[in-house]
Amino acid sequence: MSSSGNREFGYELGEVVIPEDAIEKKVAELGADIAVDYRDRTPLLVGVLKGAMIFMSDLIRELDFPLEVDMMAISSYGSSTSNSGVVRILKDLDTDLTGRHVLIVEDIVDSGLTLSYLTRNLLSRNPASLEICSLIVKDGHSRQSSEIRYVGFHIPPVFVVGYGLDIGERFRNLRQIYSYDVEDSQ
Ligand code: 5GP
Repeated sequence: MSSSGNREFGYELGEVVIPEDAIEKKVAELGADIAVDYRDRTPLLVGVLKGAMIFMSDLIRELDFPLEVDMMAISSYGSSTSNSGVVRILKDLDTDLTGRHVLIVEDIVDSGLTLSYLTRNLLSRNPASLEICSLIVKDGHSRQSSEIRYVGFHIPPVFVVGYGLDIGERFRNLRQIYSYDVEDSQ
């Protein structure tokens, strides 16, 4: 992908894939949908670190009813831009999921392998219900997209950074989501 020469924080990024105002609007819409379904259920929102932290913190401020939050850190084996499907739990949840209404909050679903592992793992802990909210689902690659109850954006299969998403721990702090040409920038 060609770069539009977008320089933010001194690094060259690709084009803006999702602008800030679109993210804001979509997070509010997702919040409204989630509120309809979960208002009386005191859900437990499970964020997947580190990528989902910004989405999670914006999303919960759209929800004006009792809820709880927990975080899980996982790591996929493989290079920084591809996923082998082998997942390791780096930090487990503090909360017992038995009988809870659990909503997984993900940043981005590509192959769906990470989510598939996570879903199996959390279902084995006997929650009352388990649903998924992902800010982004990549077109073409996701085998699990029909199982994702709340989807913010569908994007083409490009590598993106910003709004919590990183490459080598960089760019999480950007307010918009940009494409990132991996080959040109190594
Ligand atoms: P999957 O298992 O669905 O292939 O990949 C999911 C995980 O890979 C995400 O939670 C994220 O950590 C990482 N990932 C997938 N696509 C991208 C991307 O375009 N940008 C970034 N920064 N991470 C991605």
